[in-house]
Formats: sequence, C-alpha cells, structure tokens
Amino acid sequence: MSETLVVKCPICKALVEHGSKTFPFCSNRCKTRDLGNWASGIYAIPDTPTDSWHHDHKV
Ligand SMILES: [Zn+2]
Repeated sequence: MSETLVVKCPICKALVEHGSKTFPFCSNRCKTRDLGNWASGIYAIPDTPTDSWHHDHKV
C-alpha cells in the first residue's frame, strides 16, 4: 500500500502532493497570493485601542 499525501491548495484548490517545493500551495504564484492575502488582511484591520493589552504584556 503506497499512498501519497495529497492536499488541496488553499488558494485555487488544486491538488498538491506532499513534498512539493511549494507545499501546501500548488505553485509559487499561489504561495505569493496567500502572503498577499495576509498582508492585506493585516492592513485592513482598523486601528483598535490595544494599549491596555500591551501594558498587561509588559516584560
Ligand atoms: Zn494553487
């Protein structure tokens, strides 16, 4: 029984074999696109007051 672990690319849902250079993405394009999603998500977050949280976290 030889099985290859295959996952779906989180971006385009194409099948990606485990061990692929760009795993878990099907290609560098999707990998880059995921990073872009992250970045835009971060920038989309409104400026929320987190000062108190930071104070609690003081080292
Ligand atoms: Zn993809």
